[in-house]
Amino acid sequence: MNLDFSPEDAAFREEVRRFIADNYPASLRGKQDEGEELAKEDYLSWHRVLAKKGWVAPAWPTEYGGPGWTSTQRYIWSEELARADAIPILPFGINMVGPVIYTFGTPEQKQRFLPPTLSGDIWWCQGYSEPGAGSDLASLKTKAERIQGDDGKEYYLVNGQKTWTTLAQHADWIFCLVRTNPTAKIQEGISFLLIDMKSPGITVRPIITLGGEHEVNEVWLENVKVPVENRIFEENKGWTCAKFLLAHERSGIAGVARSKRGIERIKSIATVESEDGRPLIQDPFFARKVAELEIDLTALEFTELRVLASESAGRGPGPESSLLKIKGTEIQQRITELVLEAAGHYGAPYFRGFPTDGHNMFPIGPDYAHRAAPTYFNGRKTSIYGGSNEIQRNIIAKMVLGL
Ligand SMILES: Cc1cc2nc3c(=O)[nH]c(=O)nc-3n(C[C@H](O)[C@H](O)[C@H](O)COP(=O)(O)OP(=O)(O)OC[C@H]3O[C@@H](n4cnc5c(N)ncnc54)[C@H](O)[C@@H]3O)c2cc1C
Repeated sequence: MNLDFSPEDAAFREEVRRFIADNYPASLRGKQDEGEELAKEDYLSWHRVLAKKGWVAPAWPTEYGGPGWTSTQRYIWSEELARADAIPILPFGINMVGPVIYTFGTPEQKQRFLPPTLSGDIWWCQGYSEPGAGSDLASLKTKAERIQGDDGKEYYLVNGQKTWTTLAQHADWIFCLVRTNPTAKIQEGISFLLIDMKSPGITVRPIITLGGEHEVNEVWLENVKVPVENRIFEENKGWTCAKFLLAHERSGIAGVARSKRGIERIKSIATVESEDGRPLIQDPFFARKVAELEIDLTALEFTELRVLASESAGRGPGPESSLLKIKGTEIQQRITELVLEAAGHYGAPYFRGFPTDGHNMFPIGPDYAHRAAPTYFNGRKTSIYGGSNEIQRNIIAKMVLGL
């Protein structure tokens, strides 16, 4: 692996840094500074800027609209996005279903779905989990039966419930795992369907999280008619697409560059004089926690660089993505814990949208403290989604240690 930064890489870093500084939407920056919840248009405004530039899908092959960057350039890009505190591009279209479509889709499916996924005209959500199928995903029950439509075309009639569906309230399309053969071995009776969220029979119900946010949903499907041509890959072979997608999902979850930025933030918070007149970083227990975090993050960074180098040599993400997922999410959670610790009593939960009785409902203390508790609560999800960390440990035990 060669990941030294060459003069060309340094020039590339300069170019992307300038581009982000000149083009990151000012309206978005304002909302982030105020800690406001982002609307669909906010997410899309940055997506569209990058799509126009041809930089929205760094890992896609050039023939489908990727920029043709090396693994080092992709790494620099993610570092610069984190450095600028730019919002991440949502993964559902770009990191998840896009690669499934260009790997397993027909030419017609690629032509129909890839360009609007890149441009942001299709907002995707992920319909994998069900109330009885999370870690044990293959036991999913949402049923898809073949029927003949009045128009003579073949359809699937889909019935079931998906849950924890992130940002489904904004989605134009959902990619779903459905059961097309109830009698086969469970992994062999699943298909991968693309479903228009405007189809009659789809209901989205919000789930409000501990952090007080509307981020996840239940999605109910009642007699939803889906054209057979919306199935990716062969009928009953959807598990192959599902596994491929999960490996891509996990490697994106490591978030090394953002965690680096998070540690920098902790350091700057901890060097400010606290109430007892002593900067927190002078507390040896706190300083040790920060140092341990940094060491773990550096080790993770080199693992991620190795995985990127192997991907650029043509090998897809394997069980290493489980390793990246576990360590990456543990570090992200430790960062939110340290920010909350630094906030001390100012970090007592304050939620946007709380009814006020005229007093005592406005946040007090330093700015960073206002979002400390909601961010801490929100961060608990990272060791659960994308396949829980316990399940990733099982994968490593089997695939790496051969147990
Ligand atoms: C914020 C958030 C967003 C999400 N977004 C989406 C989304 O957009 N789309 C989607 O499809 N899903 C989404 N998910 C769902 C997520 O993928 C599941 O929550 C996850 O796979 C775990 O499944 P579960 O919640 O059913 O827990 P369960 O599978 O019931 O697990 C409960 C606990 O038991 C442990 N456990 C289970 N089996 C084993 C085992 N064999 N060995 C050891 N331990 C085990 C788990 O680690 C966990 O701690 C999201 C989840 C969250 C929290």
